Amino acid sequence: MKKTRALSVYHKKRHFTKTPEPQGAVRSSTNGSLHRFVIHEHHATRLHFDLRLEAEGVLKSWAVPKGPSMNPNDKHLAVMVEDHPIEYGSFEGTIPEGQYGAGEVRIWDKGTYEAIGDPLPEQIKAGKITIIVHGKKLKGEFHMVEMKGRGENNWLLFKHRDEYADDNWELSPILHYGSRAQAPKAKKKDEAGKHALERLVQQSKKRAKTRG
Ligand code: MN
Repeated sequence: MKKTRALSVYHKKRHFTKTPEPQGAVRSSTNGSLHRFVIHEHHATRLHFDLRLEAEGVLKSWAVPKGPSMNPNDKHLAVMVEDHPIEYGSFEGTIPEGQYGAGEVRIWDKGTYEAIGDPLPEQIKAGKITIIVHGKKLKGEFHMVEMKGRGENNWLLFKHRDEYADDNWELSPILHYGSRAQAPKAKKKDEAGKHALERLVQQSKKRAKTRG
């Protein structure tokens, strides 16, 4: 993994006058064993889930096309992406058309995690991560393993077989569509609603007139 200096890559990719995403800054690292854990549901060009783990004052981030799973048999690709600011952990909204990562973003799960063994930055360097997740949907031990020689940033994410593991688990997204192109046309619907309302007002005025 190429070490990104602070949030420069994150900042370079975004226009903060055009996207509602937080600009943020690197925070001082938190002490103790519990750190922030977030999974975003991101309806971009392709629907994917973004796993974010707090370390070194930022959120270390991976894009997981198939999303996380509580089934230990599911080993899903997780592509490490640029560090995000801590503030991103509470971000939800719509990244506008034409901006980086355009599409709707929702918090799919949120909580804390603890690194088992070395602190997370050292585990990332070693290409092998073991964490315990305390989320609402994801719970218990998870592993991530870097796939060496398959591109620098490709990892596998999978559930450890513990008391929380569920072989029948199925991921349920918050929003019921896939890629951005399949998003319901909210604006058009609003306009249609407005027109319908205008028609109703006209009709009631006409009725009032005829009743005279
Ligand atoms: Mn994303």
